[in-house]
Amino acid sequence: MTIQLHDTMAGATRELVPLEPGHVRIYSCGPTVYGPAHVGNFRSFLFADLLVRYLRYRGLRVTWVMNVTDVDDKVIKRSLAEGASIGEISERFQQLFLSDMTTLGMTLPDVMPKATEHIPQMVDLISKLLEAGHAYATKDGSIFFRISSWPQYGRLARLDPAGMRVGERVEADEYGKDDVRDFALWKGPKPGEPSWETSIGPGRPAWHIECSAMSMAYLGPSFDIHTGGIDLIFPHHQDEIAQSEATTGQMFVAYWLHCAFLQMNGQKMAKSTGNISTVADILSDGVSPRALRLALISAHYRMPLSFGEDSLQAASSAIDRLDALMAALAAYRTECPSDDSLPALLNGTREAFETALDDDLNISPALAAIFELIRELNRRIDGRTLSTADAQRAIAFIRGIDQVLGIAPVADETLESGLQELLDERAAARASMDWAASDRLRMALVERGVLIEDTRDGQRWRRAD
Ligand code: AMP
Ligand code: ZN
Repeated sequence: MTIQLHDTMAGATRELVPLEPGHVRIYSCGPTVYGPAHVGNFRSFLFADLLVRYLRYRGLRVTWVMNVTDVDDKVIKRSLAEGASIGEISERFQQLFLSDMTTLGMTLPDVMPKATEHIPQMVDLISKLLEAGHAYATKDGSIFFRISSWPQYGRLARLDPAGMRVGERVEADEYGKDDVRDFALWKGPKPGEPSWETSIGPGRPAWHIECSAMSMAYLGPSFDIHTGGIDLIFPHHQDEIAQSEATTGQMFVAYWLHCAFLQMNGQKMAKSTGNISTVADILSDGVSPRALRLALISAHYRMPLSFGEDSLQAASSAIDRLDALMAALAAYRTECPSDDSLPALLNGTREAFETALDDDLNISPALAAIFELIRELNRRIDGRTLSTADAQRAIAFIRGIDQVLGIAPVADETLESGLQELLDERAAARASMDWAASDRLRMALVERGVLIEDTRDGQRWRRAD
């Protein structure tokens, strides 16, 4: 088995060889919790989720860390605007983030460190950079990384260090820098801003150092995979590499994975332009969480994802097809010999699915293989060529694949008390051809959110979305 991943640093697809055999350590730049995350943000988080799920499905142990940026300019700005503490703002939006993650069926990362709880680790890194001459302090108590001390700077972003950042707007509080290209590690205290008393002086961390400190705290000085959207390649990830490698003298990250943007109306979804939709916005339009998840993972992560009504519609009908198949398989009863071509069908599907995902998480052919299987199983259900045990085998197979996709209906859902009785009563009414009672019971179930379909194998139920 070889899994190939596209590494931005190499500019090529490379075989994944974990630094520690059998164990893959992954860090994903997480949300800045100053407002609700939009579905563009969730595209980048779900791509990391797909990666983690697939590596686990392939039998690898994965340690996944995703940080929460709970102190930065945007969090501070909102806290000042609302007259609330940064803790109150970040707590509110972190809770919302966790609830959106759950709604979208995201695997919870093993660790979700918060920046404000890792100030000592950041101070430690900055102290080492100061000692080694890679950093310097300015009069206002800020500390900057000295780019001229780090010749490799620019490799990830393929930038020429000489030309970098010239012309970039220099923030008012950054005028003390020796060189316009240098970036902040630590920001000196300012009235109205949170500040920590530390051995490098009072102030607060800059954004980039947060990710270096939190990733290395949980994954060590060198780890396997770092993920984020392509907008983070420069300067964020480039700066993370410089700070981390200049401190430890070791390679920071073995594979850099970046996902392309989710676009709406041909434009990057971004808070700054205002063309955003949140998870709540989309669900309130009647889209199911699983359809939204499928829409967000269904394009290859390095391709722009064009998001809108069409893609949601396509995902919703795909989910309906999957749900209908799962319900049909669960209800299927035929006493006949096993279908001897079923094992080959399932194995072929598994092979196509894995071959696609091994190839840099190429999701489109992987999904195509699953939806082709759905068509084929429907044919066999209609032709009554499967046995009851075959139908159960097919369910188990789809559940196995769904460890990666996370789009199948919840397994073995049990009904709340009273609902099963209504279903049983209705089945009895139909058996005695009491159609009036059957219709009345159908409506009673609908009112409780359960939809009924009558099939050759009896009545089937599913939850209304
Ligand atoms: P932020 O909360 O702005 O730091 O962004 C969190 C993550 O979302 C980062 O990995 C960004 O690269 C990513 N991101 C932001 N906008 C988009 C978008 N439109 N499409 C895909 N990823 C995005
Ligand atoms: Zn980061």
